[in-house]
Amino acid sequence: MKKIPELFGSKVFNDSVMQARLPKSIYKAIKQTVQEGKQLELNVANVVANAMKDWAIEQGATHFTHWFQPMTGITAEKHDSFISPDSDGRIIMEFSGKELVKGEPDASSFPSGGLRATCEARGYTVWDVSSYAFIKDDTLCIPTGFCSYSGEALDKKTPLLRSMEAIDREAVKVLHLIGNTDVKRVTTTVGPEQEYFLIDKEVYLKRPDLIYTGRTLFGARPSKGQQLEDHYFGTIKPRVSAFMKEYDEELWKLGILAKTKHNEVAPAQHEIAPIFTTTNISTDHNQLMMEIAKKVAKKHDLVCLLHEKPFAGVNGSGKHNNWSMSTDTGENLLEPGKDPANNTQFLVFLAAVIKAVDMYQDLLRISVASAGNDHRLGANEAPPAIVSIFLGDELGGIVESIVSGKPFAGVGDLEMDTGAAVLPHFNKDTTDRNRTSPFAFTGNKFEFRMLGSSISIGGANIVLNAAVADVLRGFADELSGVSDADKDAAITKLIKETVTDHKRIVFNGDNYSEDWVKEASKRGLLNLKTTVDALVTFIEPKNIKALTTNGVFTETEIHSRYEILLEDYSKVINIEATTTLDLAKQAIMPACLEYQKVIVELLASKLACELPSRVEKALADKIGTLCETLFDNIAALEDVIEQSKLLTDTLETARFFLDDVIPAMNAVRDVADELELTVSTKYWPLPSYGEILYSVN
Ligand code: ADP
Ligand code: MG
Repeated sequence: MKKIPELFGSKVFNDSVMQARLPKSIYKAIKQTVQEGKQLELNVANVVANAMKDWAIEQGATHFTHWFQPMTGITAEKHDSFISPDSDGRIIMEFSGKELVKGEPDASSFPSGGLRATCEARGYTVWDVSSYAFIKDDTLCIPTGFCSYSGEALDKKTPLLRSMEAIDREAVKVLHLIGNTDVKRVTTTVGPEQEYFLIDKEVYLKRPDLIYTGRTLFGARPSKGQQLEDHYFGTIKPRVSAFMKEYDEELWKLGILAKTKHNEVAPAQHEIAPIFTTTNISTDHNQLMMEIAKKVAKKHDLVCLLHEKPFAGVNGSGKHNNWSMSTDTGENLLEPGKDPANNTQFLVFLAAVIKAVDMYQDLLRISVASAGNDHRLGANEAPPAIVSIFLGDELGGIVESIVSGKPFAGVGDLEMDTGAAVLPHFNKDTTDRNRTSPFAFTGNKFEFRMLGSSISIGGANIVLNAAVADVLRGFADELSGVSDADKDAAITKLIKETVTDHKRIVFNGDNYSEDWVKEASKRGLLNLKTTVDALVTFIEPKNIKALTTNGVFTETEIHSRYEILLEDYSKVINIEATTTLDLAKQAIMPACLEYQKVIVELLASKLACELPSRVEKALADKIGTLCETLFDNIAALEDVIEQSKLLTDTLETARFFLDDVIPAMNAVRDVADELELTVSTKYWPLPSYGEILYSVN
């Protein structure tokens, strides 16, 4: 194996490759496009395309593709080879600037939420110069945005880039107004921690529910779950370790800063975290991380489950989106420094985040909403569906003192003595962690913890950037007319008013407790329990205004996304319901009847011989009764599935799936799970939870 520094980024057309392979003027033009948002000329693109092609061919690539992120939540690619016929019947390898900059995939089969009739097929992919091209499967992949013929975004990247531009614009304005005039650019940074499950391929293949829906639709609790808390940070098993090693290497080749790996809380659950980078690149990288996890797992006869809740009663998977803002002068705007109480710049940006999260609780909730994530949020393992901010002791104290006007007393002695002389004394952090909070300040960044494991982090970051940009725009307006002499007072007033008006969103206690639900409701905070409840707020005037004025979405795009998300929800539940039905009818019921037949025959023969038959009678009875309930529940599920087909309105359909189909599905599962614990394992048609969760050794 190559040494890691050589391996790292070896499949990426990155800065150093560009510097080495492009004429100086072209390299400079590319840099300017990235750094200053300048338009790229076709002659520049032509030179870059040619250099990219030569580099890619040297690496063994034969094809190129525009790599994009449609609203399906996964990435899309259509491969074209570099070949072009020559006049003498041979071929040459070609790649033009035009092909690099723009592609024209047929857009009609991607979700558009009514943005485009099926007959209007044209869509464009457009090169995102700010994310490096890379090679995957012998194909040169060019990160691109994806839009319709009329220019509306059909993807997650385009609005993400717009949101980054919005926050850049507004944050720079505010920085200049508060006297930090050197800053030319503000970018948002993200480090997403990704959770996943690894199970053996053989058990997976025996589970149609996992294959079709990504989660188990049946399964009684295992004898051993996560009660012993012995998996978290536990020793990594050799097979998993071999997977992780190859996974890291594949990520490093793609320039992904894979850094931390460990076992998570649930059996078979793990986590990987890269070092943070620019939001756009981090989002691209997270998409690749999910894809590559699945691929590498396959090579090890494993399957990587990215679903938010593969197993009922066992912790699900999420992503922690660590987020901050930094300047081109190297400052992290959320770095409190040694004396946060007197760090005006920090307090301005902290106040902006507090206000943004309070004002746009609903948008943040929507940004993490999916049928899969509904199983986690509020289910006492992930943060609740109520959005709130954890600031910790020090910042919490500072905020209190700003509101009350009393001086901040500090957090006391931080020197830590463990009591063991050989262990060094050290200074502890200014606050403990709070793992129950959905949005926690963690030193010099916020950790948004509500994201589901399978969805793109694009959505959450679009909203986060847009919400903070919107608040900063208001700050800039408020400070812009103020004379230099009055500036300090105006800034102090702005911080105080903002924090006072929005401190209801700050909560440092236990977010899992019932008391918090009551307290949050008293504070007027939203508790949007399900995806459907959350989505209806998407199209509220306040939200449309914030997203459109900051140039992140057009109103048409918002309506189209609203439709897509609702439709997606209904489709997911529909597939789950149908799979539940098929499995119950075709596998579970027959298995139960078969076992019952054996018992009944035994009972009959025992009765004939006048042998004691209490056990057989009781078992036959129990299975008989449960099977009858299962039969009725199957019929009821079948009935609601049929009813759902008659609905046409997207919201009404989604509500029906939530209120009628999910309970019917759960009713089938509940009896089936009871039957699983009654019927002999020899007859049970599906691998048990125990077999799946402990399938990897
Ligand atoms: P945890 O204890 O929550 O795992 P870590 O220190 O490992 O915390 O950091 C978690 C993630 O936060 C990592 O991906 C890290 O790179 C990222 N991170 C650190 N600083 C920033 C920042 N300024 N902006 C965005 N992400 C950051
Ligand atoms: Mg974390």
